[in-house]
Amino acid sequence: MDDGFKTLIAEIEQTGKKYDIEKIKNAYEYAAKMHEGQYRLSGEPYITHPVAVAQIVLGLELDTDSICAALLHDTVEDCSDKTNLETIRSLFGEEVMQLVDGLTKIKQLQVRDKEEAHIENIRKMLLAMNRDIRVIFIKLCDRLHNMRTLSAKAEERRRDIALETMHIYAPLAHRLGMQRIKHELENLSLKYLDPIGYNEVVEKIKQKYGQSAGLIENARKIIQERLDEAHIPCTIESRTKSVYSLYRKMYNLHKNFDEIYDFYALRVIVETELECYTVLGIIHEAFNSIPGRFKDYISTPKPNLYRSLHTTVIGHDGIPFEVQIRTYEMHEVAEYGIAAHWKYKSGERSKENIDEKLRWIASLLEANDNTRDPDEFMRSFKTDIFHDETFVFTPKGDVISLPLGATVIDFAYAIHSAVGNKMIGAKVNGMIVPIDRVPQNGDIVEILTSSASKGPSRDWLNIVKTGEARNKIRAWFKKEKREENIEVGISELDKELKRIGRPYNDKQRDEVAMAVGRAVGINGGADDFYSTIGFGGLTVSRLTKRIHEEFDRVCPPPAVPEEAPKPIEDTLAQNKKDLHRVKRGSGIVVDGEQGCEVKFAKCCNPLPGDKVIGFITKGFGISIHKQGCPNVTAGMRDENNRDRWVEAHWEGGNNDAGKDLYEAILCIRALDRIGALAEITAALADMKVPILNVAIKQNAGNGTSMINLTVASKNVSHVETIISRLRTLSAVESVYRGSNG
Ligand code: MN
Repeated sequence: MDDGFKTLIAEIEQTGKKYDIEKIKNAYEYAAKMHEGQYRLSGEPYITHPVAVAQIVLGLELDTDSICAALLHDTVEDCSDKTNLETIRSLFGEEVMQLVDGLTKIKQLQVRDKEEAHIENIRKMLLAMNRDIRVIFIKLCDRLHNMRTLSAKAEERRRDIALETMHIYAPLAHRLGMQRIKHELENLSLKYLDPIGYNEVVEKIKQKYGQSAGLIENARKIIQERLDEAHIPCTIESRTKSVYSLYRKMYNLHKNFDEIYDFYALRVIVETELECYTVLGIIHEAFNSIPGRFKDYISTPKPNLYRSLHTTVIGHDGIPFEVQIRTYEMHEVAEYGIAAHWKYKSGERSKENIDEKLRWIASLLEANDNTRDPDEFMRSFKTDIFHDETFVFTPKGDVISLPLGATVIDFAYAIHSAVGNKMIGAKVNGMIVPIDRVPQNGDIVEILTSSASKGPSRDWLNIVKTGEARNKIRAWFKKEKREENIEVGISELDKELKRIGRPYNDKQRDEVAMAVGRAVGINGGADDFYSTIGFGGLTVSRLTKRIHEEFDRVCPPPAVPEEAPKPIEDTLAQNKKDLHRVKRGSGIVVDGEQGCEVKFAKCCNPLPGDKVIGFITKGFGISIHKQGCPNVTAGMRDENNRDRWVEAHWEGGNNDAGKDLYEAILCIRALDRIGALAEITAALADMKVPILNVAIKQNAGNGTSMINLTVASKNVSHVETIISRLRTLSAVESVYRGSNG
């Protein structure tokens, strides 16, 4: 028995869990016998590698069979003269055999070129995953150990392996939520891919950390003291960002090292979810927070299950740092991801147990989806990992990657524009399909072409998903169909001009076309403008404003007698200068001003349901106030600015229940006790109301504190529901909708 394996056994015993040590020993002995006489490039006996992999697998707290499979993972591939899957099955059972099989298949990939190697790898892994996700966990451990020992490999191999790790395995670990493995894989890959950049970042970290390690330690002490006072048991960790994530911010996002706010992070780990929010309140009380950096991943977890509260605050010495607040359970999931749910509890796991876990993960991942079938889950999970790409095959087996939702036409143009232009139909997996069919991962797509084809159809421009296909189709029309394009262009422009409703002749239309064309850089005259519209290089709907302006110039509207000035008390009506209604993303319609930016006044934070009024600011668009806002009452008295008030109302009436969310401020008087904030935030989380900001003011003496919460709400009645719920809480004395004024 070598020392590595002795250590492994000792570690297994330390876990105190009922691993089948006999079986693990047998697997080790069998693997050692198989690999006898084989050495790694580093000169060590080969068996040290599977043992090290098994150790990492144990670190993920996977089960006996996973550890056995880790020990055996290279035997079938590398010792095919001595053993095979049948033997593994007879010695270690069906499950171990299946795991080894999955791992062997990933390894055996026949690759023709580099590009395909990656895609093929991804596909095989997905297939393997469909059967048993533990294969992926073990594969990641295998890759991690290979990366840790990569320096023994030849220069060129190192680069290839590092690149593959960066492109496939690190994103896979990320998607599975396995942050610890992901960070190590990324850092190790970077070290080989850009050693100079890597060292530069490492040096910078050392310098910066050296300068301000004391400051962060200080902040940590302050938080520890406050939490002790509040009797919240916790663990506080400090960390700096990983080398690779800093590298990315510096080189890809071109950030200066000093602009990186979350270089330092403190992590506060507590027992319960409620304590998380209490800790947040305490931290915001102790430090100034940076607006816009608060994120509640507890009420809205990330797709990979990650949950935590994030906020960035400024230390007393002016250094910003991030604080992550989570429970021990959330912490485990953050570090080990889905593997954390796979943890070996005790005894042997039965098949039912696996399904049980799958269902559980499925329900976590897809809270809104009522599929409870684990196979179904794995299917959706599978496609979700590389959610923005679909991999399909040509009949020859070449892999074409398409963006999600791309059709067979996109596929044809991705192969070659000549294929697209001569396309007359398509087959997916041997069956003729409609031309707008969206192929799925793994489908084989065959494009039917004919030299008699008259070329693409204009409708295709509305069907295709990729810019590539659209551009190629347009290029064809531009080149082949000038006469037809001109006709299409004329009829498009006619449609728009007829909408205005005043008569015009062809000459006037051409004049409009020429003028609009010139304005967008088409100087060849009206026909060039029509033809550009015709092949889709420009769309009329984007030029409407310009077309109307030019038309007004060429065919001026009949003069309207000027309105007599209205009495001053009817300020709003007077300000309706034109009747265009401006719709805004904000859900507000303002009468009288077109093209102005709308923003909500911070003094009164209006919500759908509030009666509102607009004020034309000097250069900052229209600001929307509640009609009862004191600033409005005061402002209306000001003669000089009276004509700047305009009528405004909510799009879709006063009870707009659109998807938009608006800031609302809640002023809460609560009993001055720890737990009050927790009770409030728990109630809000329960109602799925996001918290945008928290500010607490302690009232000396009378035993209460004022909590100002900024929450995201739909409208007035939504806020009223929130308020009445909060009023039922024992710690709450009063709640009202507040303002910043
Ligand atoms: Mn291996």
